[in-house]
Parts: sequence; structure tokens; C-alpha cells
Amino acid sequence: MSGPARVLVVTGGSRGIGAATCRLAAGAGWDVAVNYTRDKAAADAVVAEVKAAGRRACAIQGDMALERDVVALFETAAALLGRIGGVVNNAGVVGDQAGRIADASADMITRVVDLNVTGALLVCREAARRLSTAKGGPGGAVVNVSSIAATLGGPGEYVWYAATKGAVDSMTIGLSRELAAEGVRVNAVSPGLIETDIHASGGQPDRLKRLGPQVPIGRAGTADEVAEAIVWLLSDAASYVTGANLRVGGGR
Ligand code: NAP
Repeated sequence: MSGPARVLVVTGGSRGIGAATCRLAAGAGWDVAVNYTRDKAAADAVVAEVKAAGRRACAIQGDMALERDVVALFETAAALLGRIGGVVNNAGVVGDQAGRIADASADMITRVVDLNVTGALLVCREAARRLSTAKGGPGGAVVNVSSIAATLGGPGEYVWYAATKGAVDSMTIGLSRELAAEGVRVNAVSPGLIETDIHASGGQPDRLKRLGPQVPIGRAGTADEVAEAIVWLLSDAASYVTGANLRVGGGR
């Protein structure tokens, strides 16, 4: 592991897929800026694990739906850890009330779109500004965390969430082509049913148990299994991979 810019920013890095990515990335030689919104203790625990793996790390609070917090995250990460070479655009929510769109509130839809689409685009913007060699950056890699919901559509559960992940797929294609000649690779992973808190926070605490057996591979996946794909896409082993969308869905 060499090169000047082994600093990774992970949005929503305190729990779930983001936390697993921080831990695995540390083992692959990345210093890590761990973003979180509410759960400082969880973020601090991830920072401690990264440090135990011999890398530098810091926890940075910030709501990725807010432009000023997105900009501040990148500024703080660069000030504390140095030039950024990797970004995992992971923070995302499903909304707090699963169901049919006829029953969805405008407030909830807006909150999901603000984070999953506007926030994700702003994180891509800051990544482009900091990583692109045309902007004086070191080059690097961005991994956007989408979902297989983008192609399944989320009927009866969260069509609004699925639609935001369709937007993530589109921004991945566009940004990969926009930045390909400027030293920046941009890819997506699309997880399937993964064991994290997101299902309970979306009002479906039994979702894993209910849907796990229906996955072709026979079970839900783990956050670590998704992190493996993310860290590979970040790595030099994926040097000719850009604009890809890697499904980590157990056959879905
Ligand atoms: P999770 O366990 O609910 O964790 C969410 C993480 O995001 C936490 O670290 C949380 O920090 C942070 N976060 C929440 N709102 C934020 C905001 N406004 N700004 C910054 N950080 C915020 O979620 P997960 O399941 O790991 O999901 C991560 C990504 O994977 C999401 O984009 C999700 O859509 C995608 N995904 C998940 C699944 C799945 O089955 N789990 C499947 C497909 C795609 P705090 O704790 O501080 O709030």
C-alpha cells in the first residue's frame, strides 16, 4: 500500500455498511474519516478500531443532507488527515414509515430525497473538487452505495427510496464518465438484504427474518460482505473498473 493520498471519507461511517467499510479499509491501508449524525459513541468505537489496525482516524459529525455539513466534512477530513484519495458515499435512509406510496407523507419523501439524492450529489461534487487531477487533486476513487431496490422498485415498501437509488445509479454513470480522464474512478455497489439497523429504523424490524429465506442464496447478507466489494472497488486492484455497479444481493 503506497501513494500519497490514502485518506478515505466514509459518510454514515458509524454503523452498518459504513462502519464495516471503515474497519475493512483500515486493514487495506486507508486512514479514515468517519462521518456520523447522531451516534457519536458508535463513531468513536469505529475510530478506535481503525486506530487499533494501525491507521489514523477521526469522527466527524455532519448531516449529509446539508450542503454546509458536506463541505465541512471534506474540509475537516483534509485538515486532520491530509489529502483525500477515496470517498464512500454511503449515508442513506429509507424513511420511517414503510408502505404504499398512497399513504406516504410529503415530509418523509422529502427527507429521503434530500439525503439520498441531493446529499449524495453534493458528496460527489466535493469528491470531484478534491480528487480530480484537473482541480489539482491526487486522483482516487469514489464508491456510491446504491441498492438493488433501484431495479426492483420497492413496491409496497418504499417506492420513494428505490427511486432515490435509481438516481444514485445515474449519477454513478455520469460522474464516472465526467472524471475518467481526471484520475478518478467512480463505481457503485448495490446491496440486497443486509443485516443492519436500517430495516428497524424504516419501521420493519422483522424484515430480515421475513425476507431472508426468499433470497436465492438463502439468507440476508452481512455488512462485511458489502464492505469487501466497496474496498475492492476503492483499491488499485480495480484500476480499470469505472462506471460499474456491483450487485451484492445474494442472487437478487
Ligand atoms: P444503517 O445501519 O441505518 O446506518 C446508517 C448510517 O448512516 C449511520 O452511520 C448513520 O449515522 C448514518 N446517517 C444517517 N443519516 C445520516 C445523515 N443525514 N448524514 C450522515 N450520516 C447519516 O444503514 P445501512 O443499512 O448500513 O445503510 C447504508 C447504505 O446502504 C444506505 O445508503 C442504504 O440505503 C444502503 N443499503 C442498505 C441495505 C440494507 O439492507 N441494509 C440494502 C441496500 C442498500 P448515525 O447513527 O449517527 O445517525
